[in-house]
Amino acid sequence: MTNSVREAAVVDDIREARRERDQVAARLKVLDGRIARVEASCTHDFTPVEQTREPHVIYEPDYTNPIGRGSDLWYGERAVETTRPVWTRTCRLCGKVERTTEQRDVTTTAKVPAFGR
Ligand SMILES: [Zn+2]
Repeated sequence: MTNSVREAAVVDDIREARRERDQVAARLKVLDGRIARVEASCTHDFTPVEQTREPHVIYEPDYTNPIGRGSDLWYGERAVETTRPVWTRTCRLCGKVERTTEQRDVTTTAKVPAFGR
């Protein structure tokens, strides 16, 4: 196989790959639209919340590696691999999966005996 024949084969292969990718992207857009419409019209009946953990990278000061000198001293950061909680719930009706790593404060209005203060 000569170089130009090989190059032509590669170009054909890439062209075919691009065409196929564009078709898949168009199909994906249609399916995403269908799913979004169903999810938007669903009343949602979510399963109990499930908590798992996922890998997470945090950045903290690296005190072992001072930068600068004298009073102009500062520290770089280092990446520390850790994990964080992830909460998920799934709708029993449409299958939508909601996922979050955020939490919010909840203020309760529970009644307690009032013994003065
Ligand atoms: Zn739903």
